Amino acid sequence: MLTGKTAVVTGSTSGIGLAIAEALAAQGANVAINSYTDNEDDHAIAARLAEQHGVEAAYFKADMSKGEAARGLIDDVIARFSSIDILVNNAGIQFVAPVDEFPPEKWDAVIAINLSSAFHTTAEAVPHMRQAGWGRIINVASAHGLRASPNKSAYVASKHGVLGLTKVVALEEAGKGITCNAICPGYVLTPLVEQQIEDRMRESGLDRRAAELKFFLDKHPSEQFVTLGEVAAAAVYLAGDMAAQVTGTTLSIDGGWTAR
Ligand code: NAD
Repeated sequence: MLTGKTAVVTGSTSGIGLAIAEALAAQGANVAINSYTDNEDDHAIAARLAEQHGVEAAYFKADMSKGEAARGLIDDVIARFSSIDILVNNAGIQFVAPVDEFPPEKWDAVIAINLSSAFHTTAEAVPHMRQAGWGRIINVASAHGLRASPNKSAYVASKHGVLGLTKVVALEEAGKGITCNAICPGYVLTPLVEQQIEDRMRESGLDRRAAELKFFLDKHPSEQFVTLGEVAAAAVYLAGDMAAQVTGTTLSIDGGWTAR
């Protein structure tokens, strides 16, 4: 159980981030929900988690494409909850184009949100974790942190970078009660992937299952998508005391993709 711990999950109004926030709340952690939108639905997520799981939960607007906002998120969470025990760097975006056609502003946005935001939040959170003598940093990377695919230069570069950051932070904090690990999911059915499936169906004229198998599940020997619950369970494990000696590593949940 994570009762009394405070968790912040970046990009947690949808998909994997929301599933992780919900799973941590179910374990008793107070949770900080984040996105950059600040609408009624965002606040309703925090209210629902608080009510359903009997924890404290609050929504924090912060745009992870901006370093100052990422650092400010950590400061705001400390101001609200007085501690930060579990940091899940999850916010992420995708953009697909060949490298010579990749718009530079899209490259900058992907690197800023997927990689630099994790640097900023980690830098801001680590001193608080050191003071407490306990901390968990969980970076939601990707199978694309370990493998490449064409047309995803910024995404693949950002996720490889996240794995590098993970290892460095793990070494710097080793022996201080703080661990830093990365989860590397294969394809999970979230809005981020739904959009890509629809694009591929439109471009190829294939039906949904054929497009899934040709463009996504060709990577998974299991030919099945990863579920949100499977990723969330990994985060709960890494956040717990039984993972105290698991640090600087990657946990792949990818239907066998990286075994090839
Ligand atoms: P999603 O699009 O469902 O959710 C992304 C979340 O990030 C949303 O809450 C969104 O509001 C938030 N977000 C986007 N830009 C933001 C910004 N500038 N500031 C703050 N929040 C922002 O995506 P998802 O599929 O759940 O992806 C979550 C993470 O998991 C990403 O890092 C992604 O790279 C990674 N991942 C996803 C898959 C997959 O198949 N879906 C696989 C491997 C890794």
